[in-house]
Amino acid sequence: SDHALEYPTSPADMDWTVHYPELNGRKPEFADVGCGFGGLLVALGPLFPDTLILGMEIRTQVTQYVEDRIAALRAQPEQTAPGGYKNISVIRANAMKFLPNFFDKHQLSKLFFLFPDPHFKARKHKARIISSTLLAEYAYVLRPGGVVYTITDVRDLHEWMVKHFDEFPLFERMDEDVLEKEGHGDVVQAVRTATEEGKKVERNSGDKFLACYRRLPDPI
Ligand code: SAM
Repeated sequence: SDHALEYPTSPADMDWTVHYPELNGRKPEFADVGCGFGGLLVALGPLFPDTLILGMEIRTQVTQYVEDRIAALRAQPEQTAPGGYKNISVIRANAMKFLPNFFDKHQLSKLFFLFPDPHFKARKHKARIISSTLLAEYAYVLRPGGVVYTITDVRDLHEWMVKHFDEFPLFERMDEDVLEKEGHGDVVQAVRTATEEGKKVERNSGDKFLACYRRLPDPI
């Protein structure tokens, strides 16, 4: 399915200036995996005007939609949002493959998995975006102290994600009061409410299960 996708052979080959033309020589530090229509990017852009934020999305048309959305925001003559949305961008990619080809070790300080596809059936569980193999890759691209945010309306998927993160030695669960105390309250708020899927769940009065994890230091 991804023969049409192109991957850099290494992060050194990534030309980020194409994505952030006015922010030369910088690299993304936040990645929103399966960003969908880009609601989180648009919410976080002005909150972190000095940080480059990247959405990764596998669907071509959805990626194009987000690209157009960001271009339109950047072009608004009356644009006054901090950062002017020049710090947010999107890339079409299968984030389950070759993530370390895009990002250097410890490049990211935040990683988001918001309302990922649930793949309900047991034989489809291997398609889930959270697994021990993939957690090793996520731990590699995240810096120690970095935070992973997950949220879903599907209890079974929530329990699956919690189980895998809990079992993985390089992650430690962060409760909401800790997130709040450490200054991540605005981000948690955006995680809950800023995405299109999150809004849909709200309209249907669905549950939202949040689980956030700190990337621990590498063992010596
Ligand atoms: N995070 C968004 C939100 O909260 O509105 C979108 C949620 S949607 C249910 C899941 C998204 O993940 C879809 O847009 C889908 O195309 C994307 N996706 C699924 N697998 C992916 C993968 N391997 N790499 C990148 N994106 C993926």
